[in-house]
Amino acid sequence: MHKIEHIGIAVKDLASANELYTKLFGQAPYKIEEVASEGVKTSFFKSGPNKIELLEATNADSPIAKFIEKRGEGIHHIAFEVTNIVTEVDRLKSNGFIVLNEQPKKGADNKLIVFLHPKSTNGVLIELCQEIS
Ligand code: ZN
Repeated sequence: MHKIEHIGIAVKDLASANELYTKLFGQAPYKIEEVASEGVKTSFFKSGPNKIELLEATNADSPIAKFIEKRGEGIHHIAFEVTNIVTEVDRLKSNGFIVLNEQPKKGADNKLIVFLHPKSTNGVLIELCQEIS
């Protein structure tokens, strides 16, 4: 596992959050993308070498809708970059971590992603992501 790839923040309203974060960073999101399979609309901001992902639910069953219902807006996950997501998932599973999806799935921003269950990571939702080449 290498660096933090991005931090994901759950928001109720992506349009108004985009305005706020555009003011915060002094630049507009470089990408806005809907991931229909996940029930989310996302936007990505750069701040120096760091990336922030904003996530808005697109339906009531979306994991983001459920997260906001339970815990309100805020930090939703931390994503780490990996070179080989399959071997990394195997390594983590053999160390007792629980994965939410066995098969890497296509996430936003051209990534294959796997989530680790927060109950195996002290309450933090961790995303592994590998750039699709
Ligand atoms: Zn993410």
